[in-house]
Amino acid sequence: MPKAKHDAEIFYNSSPYKDAFDIEYPQENLEGEMYKYRCKFCKIVTTDINGRLENHAPDCEYRLRRMNQAA
Ligand SMILES: [Zn+2]
Repeated sequence: MPKAKHDAEIFYNSSPYKDAFDIEYPQENLEGEMYKYRCKFCKIVTTDINGRLENHAPDCEYRLRRMNQAA
């Protein structure tokens, strides 16, 4: 698949960083922002989280849960 097309499909078919690190957290769509999603727990948008656990809020329930799993 040509890369440009592949990128477009990722953009249109899924949350923006599907192939990044850690995207298993529950997400919710931002009201009125078709392509913006945020973590259901800490309300940080996915583009700020960027697929990285450490970008969730320090007290994010999902982050704490994952860190407990990793330990
Ligand atoms: Zn979070």
